[in-house]
Amino acid sequence: MAPRVTCYGGVGEIGGNKFLLEDRDTKVLLDFGKGFSDGADYFDSKIEPRNVNGAGDLFEFGLLPEIPGLYSEKSLQNTRLKYTRPQVDAIVLSHYHTDHTDRIEYVDPEIPVYCGETTSLIHEASSESSGSPLDGRELRTFRTGQRFTVGALEFRPVHVDHSIPGTYGFVVYTSDGPLAYTGDFRFHGPAGSMTEEFIEAAEASKPAVLLTEGTRVRPEAEGANASEEEVLKGAERLVKGSRKLVLSTFRGNDTDRINTFHDAARASGRRLVVSMKTALLLEKLRRDPRLEVPEVGRDVDVYVRRKKTGRLDDSDYYTWERPFLDRGVSAEDVRKRQAESFLHLEVWSFPELIDIRPDEGGTYIHAATEAFNEEGEKEESLVRNWVDHMGFSYHQLHASGHAPMSEVGRLVRAVKAKRVVPVHTDHPELFAEFRRGSGWELDVPVKGRPVRVSA
Ligand SMILES: [Zn+2]
Repeated sequence: MAPRVTCYGGVGEIGGNKFLLEDRDTKVLLDFGKGFSDGADYFDSKIEPRNVNGAGDLFEFGLLPEIPGLYSEKSLQNTRLKYTRPQVDAIVLSHYHTDHTDRIEYVDPEIPVYCGETTSLIHEASSESSGSPLDGRELRTFRTGQRFTVGALEFRPVHVDHSIPGTYGFVVYTSDGPLAYTGDFRFHGPAGSMTEEFIEAAEASKPAVLLTEGTRVRPEAEGANASEEEVLKGAERLVKGSRKLVLSTFRGNDTDRINTFHDAARASGRRLVVSMKTALLLEKLRRDPRLEVPEVGRDVDVYVRRKKTGRLDDSDYYTWERPFLDRGVSAEDVRKRQAESFLHLEVWSFPELIDIRPDEGGTYIHAATEAFNEEGEKEESLVRNWVDHMGFSYHQLHASGHAPMSEVGRLVRAVKAKRVVPVHTDHPELFAEFRRGSGWELDVPVKGRPVRVSA
């Protein structure tokens, strides 16, 4: 078969990336994630797909592609798709975000997963604390520049800047010209130069096809694009201006944000206090020689919440939590050191505030994406209620994990591919605005329709 790529997810939607790349008899999936709104018309927190039915409940609504030789026997036990030995050679993963990884749980465990070394450490931490879709699979790890071959395809991974460490784009050499895949990217984080390196590598390959994300490609006027550096300045201002407790909600696996808030805390004599889950991740990531993250105990503290008996008794805690008990701080410790603490608190841990009983007048920093749908608005109003109840002030401070539209356009023009396929975007048609007289062809993807890769 001549080389071709078929999009089964990330088509007219943000997230859910699932791209099948075929060349001769080789088949590789680039990412295999869950879309953010995947199945929202049929399922929610009350009506969930049944685990016992494997992939069946998702096939029912076309939420997973029925690709032969991809899924595990267990996933297919109750479906019309018959189980066969693996016919897909590998999954190549760009980074460890659910919209790129989460459907791998249905895949035959005999199919190997290629991922960055950092991703395998993040997986290890998730696996120990809450389980990972990569559990029970053979991981073959790479770093930037380490090419690897799967059948007829050669992959060159190139790191990019994004809101989780260990994110990659790829140049894939097929038998009839290269395909470049961006994964998720931005330029305004601390590692923006890595995305420039991806552009250089992609352009130098003279790609036949560019598969690019466009999360922030939208018809609305482009707003200000806050950088991580600006988040640091904003946080320093807020932390210095407060003599009470500072609280913040942010993604606990975004190590850029952890470093930013660790710096902001230090600049005003405070200590960042993180959740046990984040502490576990930080301990794993310290094994990565290329990453700089704070050390638990020395640089940041770990918050220990009460469980069952309410005492810090080993038997109340999971095995992975126990090593943190001696080094942890309790609700009472935080209350005693309100003016010296900068507490990371996920939304689901808000009831801890009842135990902490902070003084009125503290500062709350919402360091995550602003609400963009009904569910997000509901959550925001809950958060505001808690913040009001505690007598705290509310502040929004965030740098996106994705490049704004103008910078996506700059990447597309710089890479100079023959054909551009926009994915991971609500508005693929808007990529036409980037063309301005240049000769490339815009190919708005259709779910399940192959796109030929030809030089
Ligand atoms: Zn991502």
